[in-house]
Amino acid sequence: MASKVRLYVDQPLGEGQTVRLDRDQAHYLFSVMRLGPGAVLTLFNGQDGEWDAEVALADKKGGALVCRTLTRPQGSPPDLWLMFAPVKKARTDFIVEKAVEMGAARIMPVLTDYTNAERVRGDRMAAHIREAAEQCGISYLPDVTEPEKLARVLDHWPDGRRLMFCDETRLGAATSLATEPRQPWAILIGPEGGFSGGERERLAGLPYALPVSLGPRILRADTAAVAALALWQAALGDWA
Ligand code: SAH
Repeated sequence: MASKVRLYVDQPLGEGQTVRLDRDQAHYLFSVMRLGPGAVLTLFNGQDGEWDAEVALADKKGGALVCRTLTRPQGSPPDLWLMFAPVKKARTDFIVEKAVEMGAARIMPVLTDYTNAERVRGDRMAAHIREAAEQCGISYLPDVTEPEKLARVLDHWPDGRRLMFCDETRLGAATSLATEPRQPWAILIGPEGGFSGGERERLAGLPYALPVSLGPRILRADTAAVAALALWQAALGDWA
C-alpha cells in the first residue's frame, strides 16, 4: 500500500473538525496525489498532534477534509538551533531541508563577515520547511528566523544555551560531545569562506561556546551542517 499523504495545514485540528483547502492544497491532493472523496490522509498543524482526515469534498479550486482520529500526540524536537551563513540558493535549500530531517527546532540564517549569499528568501525557506516536515513524518514545524548579523545574535545570546562552534581550523578527530550537558544548544556553521579572524577571536572568548571539529577533512557548509546535526543528535539529542 502506498504510504498515506501527509499535509501541513494552518488550521485547528480536532475530532469532527472541518478543514478547508486552498487552491494549492486542492491541486496537490486531488490532481497530483489523485485522492478523491472518502480518501484518508494525515494532517498536522504543529499544535494539535497528527490526525487521520477524510476527503469530504474535492474540487479543482478547493475542497474540505474532516478530521477523524488522533493518530499521534503532538511531538516536539530537542531544543537545538541551527545557525548557518546562507550560501548559494540550492545549497541553502539543501541545508534547510536537511535541518528539518535532522531534527533542528529552529533554523537561523546568520550573516557573517565572509557571507556571500544571494538574497535569502523567507517564503522559500518556509515552503521547504513545510515540505520536509510533511515528508519526514514530524508533527511540528521548525521555526525560521529572518537573517541577522552574527555579531547581533551573539550580543543577544540567551542564558543557558550552549554554542557548538564548528571551526574549520580544528581539523582532526571529530570532537566528542558525549560528556557535554544536555541543555539547549545551537550549532554554528560558517560560509564557504570560513570565519574571519575577528569572528574567531570573539567566538573563542565566549564562555558558552565550544569550538568543535567535524573530522579531518574540510566539508562544504551544507555537508558540515548535516555532520554537525548528526554529531549532536547522537550525543545529546533524540538519537541518543
Ligand atoms: N574556506 C574554509 C572552509 C569553510 S567550510 C577553509 O578553506 O578553511 C564552511 C564551514 O563548514 C566552516 O566555516 C565550518 O563551520 C564548517 N566546517 C567544514 N569542515 C569542518 C571541519 N572539519 N570541522 C569543523 N567545521 C567544519
